[in-house]
Parts: sequence; structure tokens; C-alpha cells
Amino acid sequence: MSAQTRPRFDFPLRTRLFIDGCWCVPETRRRLPVVDPSTEETIVEVEVGGPADVDCAVRAASRALRAWKQTSGAQRAGFLRAIARGAEAHGERLAALQSLNNGKPIAESRIDVGDVVATFDYYADLAETLDRAEQEVAIPSSDHRAVIRREPAGVAALIVPWNFPMVTTAWKLAPALAAGCTVVLKPSEFTPLPELELAAIVERAGLPPGVFNVVTGTGTEVGAALTTHPLVSKVSFTGSTAVGEQVMKAAAQSIKGVSLELGGKSSIVVFADADLDLAVDLVTGGAFFNAGQMCSATSRVLVERPLAEALIARLADRVARTVVGDPFASGVQMGPLTNRAQYERVQRFIARGKTDGASLVVQGAAPEGAGLFVQPTMFVDLPVDSAVWREEIFGPVLCVRSFETEDEAIATANDTEFGLVATVVTRDEARGQRVAAALQAGVVWINTPQLIFPQTSWGGYKKSSIGRELGPFGLAAFQEVKQILSAARPV
Ligand code: NAD
Repeated sequence: MSAQTRPRFDFPLRTRLFIDGCWCVPETRRRLPVVDPSTEETIVEVEVGGPADVDCAVRAASRALRAWKQTSGAQRAGFLRAIARGAEAHGERLAALQSLNNGKPIAESRIDVGDVVATFDYYADLAETLDRAEQEVAIPSSDHRAVIRREPAGVAALIVPWNFPMVTTAWKLAPALAAGCTVVLKPSEFTPLPELELAAIVERAGLPPGVFNVVTGTGTEVGAALTTHPLVSKVSFTGSTAVGEQVMKAAAQSIKGVSLELGGKSSIVVFADADLDLAVDLVTGGAFFNAGQMCSATSRVLVERPLAEALIARLADRVARTVVGDPFASGVQMGPLTNRAQYERVQRFIARGKTDGASLVVQGAAPEGAGLFVQPTMFVDLPVDSAVWREEIFGPVLCVRSFETEDEAIATANDTEFGLVATVVTRDEARGQRVAAALQAGVVWINTPQLIFPQTSWGGYKKSSIGRELGPFGLAAFQEVKQILSAARPV
């Protein structure tokens, strides 16, 4: 790894918890190493919170709630815009920490920062609309007046994973604050550095103490304590389906509101009339962006038979030429995986795929030695009962199968317990819309890369999600609805 390619991290890294407006050390007095996945060396040690710290943070959020929920939407919008401007001003620092800690190429980290800025700006706009959000509802009675109000859900616990640090946080934090909730954020124990730097930006925006708190630590201690704390009203979780199930069970004990963004096993459907260059770009982007560590990875490629040979040949060439290496080096298209457990899991899937009867296996190159680098891999014609075809891998592994008819393509794409996203590639507009309507997925892209605008929606069908993030849905997830019915005439 060439040191020259790396930016200088000549600023202090945040390592403490942020509770009630103060950076503090936890009651546990324990620390966890944060690892650079490109070298597997420890970057720094971060404080590890425990249940007592969670209790402290939740109580601070609960105390702050009374005043925060009385602020106007316009006031909250001011804070959100200050966070957006702070993230913009410190964008390079955030991006560098993202690449250092998560391992994604620096160009991808800059996209993440842009997403964070756009999300805070969007929810600032929505927060302003809340000041006129009291809606009178038409009812069939002239004796009554019905009004619907939207109120903050209360103290919200935000639990996020390691694949898109800052982004998954922004998608929760911005709407929660806009709605008037106070929050306790738990970043992934693998990627706290960009999250804590974002927390410093939130701090500088001047939110009242207790409105925003961060407790770093493990899922089993900090995460579990948040999901069962009696003063938490809402849990917003992004992570694996297995942990999502535990979160839901834990939250059920005190009937908390729960939003879950979980795993995926998504398809890209390429019809024979597709623009081949576009199809190759969309397939490789959907499989190898963020080293495939995307809930939205379109890792199953379904190609209509007449185009199969040409597409597979072009994909094989792309896979073989993918440049894997230091996320800060120019020309690198894929960095390492983010943590060792994930690296080992992906290697197990690749080994399994090699014995599961594929008609073709293509692998690219990856640096050897230190670092969690994985060869981008393509399997052709794996049987549909192979775990590699059915399970979420969360790594740079692509599986291609061909199909004969539109109905067959839809049935195969829908044959999964997940339903997060899908992509359709065709020059036939009507077919694109028809297939999009038939796919069981919360987001469908037609002839476009995986662009996500905060104004729209995020989330999926089946085991991929409960609820939706982004757009007005993301705000509604942090609101309670109150109906006030009053006598129309004085009594
Ligand atoms: P994970 O489920 O292991 O961890 C997610 C978060 O939950 C972490 O902060 C972890 O510390 C915490 N956690 C772990 N155990 C917990 C418990 N018992 N109670 C409460 N919190 C607990 O997931 P991960 O490995 O960090 O992330 C990868 C997964 O996230 C993949 O399955 C991916 O598909 C999913 N994901 C989904 C989306 C989406 O929008 N649908 C986005 C990104 C990632």
C-alpha cells in the first residue's frame, strides 16, 4: 500500500461518546480497535458504551424532547441546513474517513457525502412545511370539525450498519430531527470514524444538548439496550435480516414503533433489445459498487437468451479488468471488504459457488497480502437452489442466468424471500414499465444506475423492510398522527 496515495489525517479523530452535548468516556472504561480494511492495521481505539451509557443518553434525549418538540419546523430546518453546510464544508475530511474506515474508493465516498448533504437539505424543506401541516379533514357532519396533526414520535433510537456509514445515518437522523424527535444514534462498531466526524458537525450546528446523542459500542450491548429501553418510543434499524428479527422481538416487549431496512437479493433483468454497453455498466455497477456490500446489490443477472452470450463475454472481460486496490489510489474501482468476518463469509460463498455446478466461473485480480481484498467473481448458470444464487452475499459476486420469456424473468426475479430493488434494461419503454409493475421490489430502476433521490422513497417488499425511508415516508416514520374532533359550534 503506497503511503503517498493517502491523504494526511492531521486532525484529531473523534473516539468518545456524545451524550447531552458533551464528548464523554463511557462507564464501561472499555475501548475497541477500529481497523483500516486496506491494511488490517488499527487506526485508533474508540470508546465502547454499555447499557449504563445508553440509559444516560436516552434520559438526556427524553429531557430534551419537551423543548425540542415545541420548536417550529422553520427553527428545526435552520439546524438541518447548518448540518448540511457543515458536511459540505468538511466534505473531503468526511470522505477520507469513509474510505479509510469502510474501504470504498474515495470517489464513492464523495458521492456518499453528497447524499448526506442532499438529505439534510431535503428534510429542512420538509420541516418548514410542518408549520402549516395541521389539516382540516372533510367529514359528513356540519356539527363537527376534524383536524389531523402530526406530532413527533418521541425519543428515537437509530441503529445503523457499516456499508454506508453517514448515509444510512442521514436517512434517519435528518427526518427524525425534522419531525421533532430527539435521538440516540448507534453506529456500527466497524465504522465509527466517519459517523463520529459527522456527529462533530451536528454538534457545531448548535442543537440543544440532549437532542442528538451518540453511543458507540456493540450490537449486543448498546443496540440491545436501545431496543428495550422504556423511554425509547421508536427504533429505526438498518442491518441484516437476522438482527432485524431480534430488534423487532425486543421492541415488541414494550410495543415500540419499528422501521426496518434489511437485506436483499435483487435482480437486474436484461432484455435482448438492451443497449449492450449500458447493460454492462449497469450490471457491473449494481454488483461491484462498494465491493458489492450493498443491500441493493443487483447480484442476480437475468439475461434474455439471444443476448446471453454477448453479455457474458463482455461481463467476463469487465470482471477480469476490474482494478481492485487502495481506495485512495487513482484508477481503483473496488476497495477491500470492510471487515474480516464479511471477508471470510464472502470467500466461503465463492468457494461454494465453485463446487455448485456453474458452467463458467470468471475471477478478476486482487492484491495479495495484507488487506481484505476479494477478487470480483462471476458465476454463470448456477442452479437456482444454490445458496450463492439464493442468499445475500454482500460481496463482489455476480450470478448470471438466461431466460426465454418475460414471464419467466419476472417469476425468477420474484423467487426470493427479499424484495428490495430491481433493475430492468430494455429499449422497449412499455415493457420496462410492465415488468417494473410486476416485480416485487420497493425500488425499480429502468435503464439507469442506482440513483437515489431523497425526495423519493427507500425500502422494499417481503423480508427486506418494514416501512419506508426517504421522501415524506421517511418523515412519517418519526411522527404520530393525532386526530382532534371538536364541536363546530360553541357549547
Ligand atoms: P448487522 O445486522 O450485523 O448490524 C447492524 C447494526 O445493528 C450494527 O450497528 C450492529 O452493532 C447492530 N446490532 C447487532 N446486533 C444487535 C442487536 N441484537 N440489537 C440491536 N442492534 C444490534 O448488519 P451489518 O453487518 O452491519 O450490515 C449489513 C446488513 O445491512 C446487510 O444485510 C445489508 O443488506 C443490510 N443493509 C440494509 C440496507 C437497507 O436499506 N435495506 C442498507 C444497508 C445495509
